Amino acid sequence: MQSLKDELKKLDLEAIRRRANSHSSTNVTDAVEPKQYRCKHCKDELGWIKRVQLSDKPFDYMDKWEDCPCARDRAIERLMKSSQISEKFRKKTLSNFVTDGAAAIVKEAYQAAVEYIESYAEIKETPQNSMALLGQSGAGKTHLLMGVSNHLIKKGIGVFYFPYIEGFSELKDNLDTAGTRLQKLKMAEVLFIDDLFKGGKKDKHTGIKMPSDWEVEKMIEVINHRYLEQKPTLISSERDIAFLCDVDEALGGRINEMCKDYMVIIEGGMELNQRFL
Ligand SMILES: [Zn+2]
Repeated sequence: MQSLKDELKKLDLEAIRRRANSHSSTNVTDAVEPKQYRCKHCKDELGWIKRVQLSDKPFDYMDKWEDCPCARDRAIERLMKSSQISEKFRKKTLSNFVTDGAAAIVKEAYQAAVEYIESYAEIKETPQNSMALLGQSGAGKTHLLMGVSNHLIKKGIGVFYFPYIEGFSELKDNLDTAGTRLQKLKMAEVLFIDDLFKGGKKDKHTGIKMPSDWEVEKMIEVINHRYLEQKPTLISSERDIAFLCDVDEALGGRINEMCKDYMVIIEGGMELNQRFL
């Protein structure tokens, strides 16, 4: 019975806190202009206390906190905010991805995204819990993985969006906070790295643009950590696995291992460009 007592004590505290809040917010302005509540059901309390009668004796009851459906909506709103996904990208879903007239490989990428979200709950704690769309720019890789991210967030799963170029320039601009930010990439429930290893300096022998040693080192740190902790990662990149292995063999191997069940390599020319559909 100890736990029930504790529970009741907690509920009492909750009721006291709410009462205190409602008093402190009662001032002249409130009296003139009634507060506009976002939720008319719970008046923004995110729930209410319901009295449950345990028997027909008048004193035999317990107060039970009940969540309002708006609590879930707000939790999702918070997840959306902390995901760093822009307003524009929040609109990218799998259902507004155009597959009519798209090339077969683009349809395959779409199918892989659908299968990924359908199996997410089963695979999330396995070594093959990640997805990669590699190759051709403009084929809709970002849209598809954004669609996956937005879907997961709506299911209450935390996603952190890391657009590679902007993300790294922010890290370099604020080196004192880089550690904390990188920690976020490591710890995120789901991490979406968009355009992995895009840009870089041209190698003087091969003429191929290569990421800096610092970027490679940080990416290895993040991906290694996520691999060992079995944390799902979504990766889009114009580079292929051979390139990733050239950059760092172990890193390429890790990404291949994590993503192999949901990896689509989009090769081809302009006919694959979703922007011209
Ligand atoms: Zn509510």
